[in-house]
Amino acid sequence: MTTPNRPVYDLLLHGGTVYDPANGINGLKLDVAISGNVIAAVGPDLWPATARHVADVTGMIVTPGLIDLHCHFFGYFGSIAPDPLCLSTGVTTAVDAGGSGHLTFDEFNETVISKATTRIFALLNIAGEGMVGEPEQDLEGMNAQLTAAKIAQRPDLIVGIKVAHYAGPGWDPLNRGVAAANETDTFVMVDQTPISSRPMNDMMLEHMQTGDVVTHCYASSKPMTDPNDRVRDYFFRARDRGIHFDVGHGAGSFSWRIAQAAIDQGFPPDTISTDLHHSSYLTNQATMPETMSKMLICGVPLEDVVAMSTWRPAEKIRRPDLGTLSVAGVADVTVLRHSEGEFGFTDNGSSGNRVRRAGQRLEAEITVKGGKVVWDRNGLTRDDWEHTVPQEGRLP
Ligand SMILES: [Zn+2]
Repeated sequence: MTTPNRPVYDLLLHGGTVYDPANGINGLKLDVAISGNVIAAVGPDLWPATARHVADVTGMIVTPGLIDLHCHFFGYFGSIAPDPLCLSTGVTTAVDAGGSGHLTFDEFNETVISKATTRIFALLNIAGEGMVGEPEQDLEGMNAQLTAAKIAQRPDLIVGIKVAHYAGPGWDPLNRGVAAANETDTFVMVDQTPISSRPMNDMMLEHMQTGDVVTHCYASSKPMTDPNDRVRDYFFRARDRGIHFDVGHGAGSFSWRIAQAAIDQGFPPDTISTDLHHSSYLTNQATMPETMSKMLICGVPLEDVVAMSTWRPAEKIRRPDLGTLSVAGVADVTVLRHSEGEFGFTDNGSSGNRVRRAGQRLEAEITVKGGKVVWDRNGLTRDDWEHTVPQEGRLP
């Protein structure tokens, strides 16, 4: 039995507006209580007196820890160290999209995944040596069996396959990726700009399979819209057969014009992701809150934006224990500040880099990973400095 004055929670996020799509909570004013590394309770007014630390997050949005389905932490010259840019932007789980292949995954795990606080999963590049440059052009290095064997060895960390950037003709890289996915019951994320011998409609309607992902879905290089800004019919047909569309913002893969036209015509993304790397951050501040803000500005309802950034990517990587605020589940929680003001949001369309002015922006206020506060922009979870004890007894 607990006496009323004894803290039963380590941290109470008090007064926020909670979005937890997996549990059907969409915009309710609830408290979220954390004990140790788990969610202890979600409910109205959980009695602040019983928590060791209380953060008043009234007016802010509380969501499950964000999940970024497309990042670069290894194997690419523009890769970033995960923690500084993920945790500071509300991301507690991130997927490296093809930085490593079956030959280099162990090194990736040893040098990056195992050392990071951010929970990292991998999509294994069909190119055995991983991403960018020669390996992604070398068909001999793309082996479906060895890729599948590596996935079977580390199903705890490898969630699928990436096929990207192949400049030669034909379907071999994609077909091999699909074969490896079939063998391991995973999915392929594809970034293949169409060429005349490899058109986008054939790719999505004949070569990819249900559950496979087209990333960079609003990129000028993936022609979702025609010259009249109409979404091409075969994109709807691809969605009907279960192809999944991911934002993968990047530094060259998000056009306001395409995104707005598509969303107006009933083609929102399935998942929001950043394609986080040096230049996507520097050119477009392509973080999760920034990319989520862009979807809001395009008219996607907030509850859908949150689902696309939490529960849907969790389902995609088959980790239903993540992307929710379920009681007794792991305490990955993000608090977002939804500010009003005068803001500018940049893109990178084929006709040049543009800006769109808008009056709202989401920013990460607090990030909790496994029960630990790993980002707290305004110190809301901390006691006031005036409680600092005097320096009595310290040697001068
Ligand atoms: Zn990428």
